[in-house]
Amino acid sequence: MNLLHKPRVLRFVSRHLLCSVPTRERRVALTFDDGPHPRETPRLLRLLDARRVRATFFLVGRNVLRYPHLAAEIAARGHEIGNHTYNHVVLPLLPRRLMLRELERASRLIQSATGEWPRLFRPPMGWFNRSMMRTVAEHGYRGVLGDVYPQDTRRPGADVIAQRVLERVRPGSIVILHDGVAFGPGDRSQSIEAVDLVIERLRDRHYEMEPVGALVERAQAHAPGAAAAPARHGLHAGGQRPSTDGRLLQRHAP
Ligand SMILES: [Zn+2]
Repeated sequence: MNLLHKPRVLRFVSRHLLCSVPTRERRVALTFDDGPHPRETPRLLRLLDARRVRATFFLVGRNVLRYPHLAAEIAARGHEIGNHTYNHVVLPLLPRRLMLRELERASRLIQSATGEWPRLFRPPMGWFNRSMMRTVAEHGYRGVLGDVYPQDTRRPGADVIAQRVLERVRPGSIVILHDGVAFGPGDRSQSIEAVDLVIERLRDRHYEMEPVGALVERAQAHAPGAAAAPARHGLHAGGQRPSTDGRLLQRHAP
């Protein structure tokens, strides 16, 4: 059962995490979790390069520590990087002090590998609660989940993964896929194969793909009253760590 595809669950989650971006344009974001991975990530990067697609990667700090050159490579190729904690833990179970350490450690490693402090955060396994999301926002992160989750880690076959994405995707969708592995060995070859199919079929339907931040910024720029909204609310304005969040999540809450 895929909880995230249940309308009531998705409506609830959308009050706390960005699940999709309101737009009529045929644009979506592909996102990849749990990397970097020494075999799968380079493969995925080559594929995305060949297809001229930029995406968002939610990296696990522990994996960045092992493969900092891959984190650097992701950034160097123009992709966006978000924080997916250091240990890939269920954050709401942790006391605030440890929760912050999980975020901080991952961000520091990402920054030292790429030069950029991440602004996006995705909770491992989608676990969150209200106080945790408040803490996340207070520390300048924007929480992101998604509205299309094909359960690629269960390895149902590349075709099935692609088909599940294409059945659900709509303008502004955020697609959750995996190039990395949080624990132990893992095989993400089906996910990577599916990405090729997804890109091809989305293009057939005249969709374009871009990182979450770019998708949000474009939607904000085209939103009614956008001219009055100062640029600093964008995700990439000025390269500073934002002090608060909430505005965007409120705006996108149903
Ligand atoms: Zn994960």
